[in-house]
Amino acid sequence: MTIYSKNDFMQFIKHWPKDIEICDVTLRDGEQTPGVAFTTQEKIKMAEKLDSIGVDVIEAGFPVVSKAEEATVKEIAHLGLKAKICCLSRAVAKDIDTVLRCDVDFVSIFIATSDLHLKYKYHKTFEEATSCALDVLDYAKDHGLKVRFAVEDATRTDINVLKSIYKSAEEHGADYVSIADTVGILNPSTAFYLVSEIKKTIKTKLCIHCHNDLGMAVANTLSAAEAGAFQLHTTVNGIGERCGNASLEELLVSLRVQYGIERYDVSKLMELSKLVEEYSEIPIPRTKAIVGANAFAHESGIHVAAVLEEPMTYELFAPEMVGGKREYIIGKHTGTKALKGVVQKMGYDLSHEQMCILLDKVKRCSEVKKKVTCERLTDFIKELE
Ligand code: MN
Repeated sequence: MTIYSKNDFMQFIKHWPKDIEICDVTLRDGEQTPGVAFTTQEKIKMAEKLDSIGVDVIEAGFPVVSKAEEATVKEIAHLGLKAKICCLSRAVAKDIDTVLRCDVDFVSIFIATSDLHLKYKYHKTFEEATSCALDVLDYAKDHGLKVRFAVEDATRTDINVLKSIYKSAEEHGADYVSIADTVGILNPSTAFYLVSEIKKTIKTKLCIHCHNDLGMAVANTLSAAEAGAFQLHTTVNGIGERCGNASLEELLVSLRVQYGIERYDVSKLMELSKLVEEYSEIPIPRTKAIVGANAFAHESGIHVAAVLEEPMTYELFAPEMVGGKREYIIGKHTGTKALKGVVQKMGYDLSHEQMCILLDKVKRCSEVKKKVTCERLTDFIKELE
């Protein structure tokens, strides 16, 4: 088993997400991260990797942005992936004409409904904005497209207003409706409440799109899934506008470790994460969950000694589960026992005297803030011989 330990509290989870799918929006919302632009080849590589993990839907882009973007979305739609391909569209008929040329499985038409967005962005009344969006929904459906009707800034919209717009979208034949927590205002309780309330009003499949402004995007997404949200939106490494979106790797591993959902191939997450780090040029913080350099690194003497005997003492799951590697960092907190254990694990048998010299070298290194990785340790050992 790659998941080491489950705890007794899991029996108190009241609502298990059953019917869910993952829609990864790295290629669209991820690309809207300030300073990020992907080439067509990069988008194709990411789409293929997402597909091989088993991600159900890939949001490939926003075709009306440019001719090149339109061509890229079309190319991804024609890759023959198992994942469904969707793309974004404003509530404008001309956007739908562009989308129709891309051969996607469905289109996501978005409209903001909060007073703030109506007043300062659209300069329209709620009635004007929504009737226009519903016309575009009709237009897309009339042209044979499946539609996700996405409400932007839904979480700062009056809940009764929100219910009425989702009800109208359902009556107009929307295939999915989406709640976008555009500025990340939800928390797990409010996410659960909101999804439960909307589910009372409509039967259409519900999507949840969480932003991470308070660092809660993954928690909110899981809470929404517990309340019955069907399509969960993510980005790799959690990139996206401002503080990003719910991170794919955190969500998939949480679904596996906490909820027993094992149908996604999480062993490719590390590889995908590195790919997105390279293409987006956004470095992954060392302490980032699942894919950070420190996720499976151990330094303190007590921890290293324990992990050498049994990794589950200080790891929730084995690094191999996500395609990662365990690393021992030797530093000022390392004791003789831990260093001896690491050296033996590396296949060396050193005398007591050699061990003392080695520990001395290690401590001197950390005094000048140099990290001692296993590679550097090997160099030190070779110097002894
Ligand atoms: Mn977004």
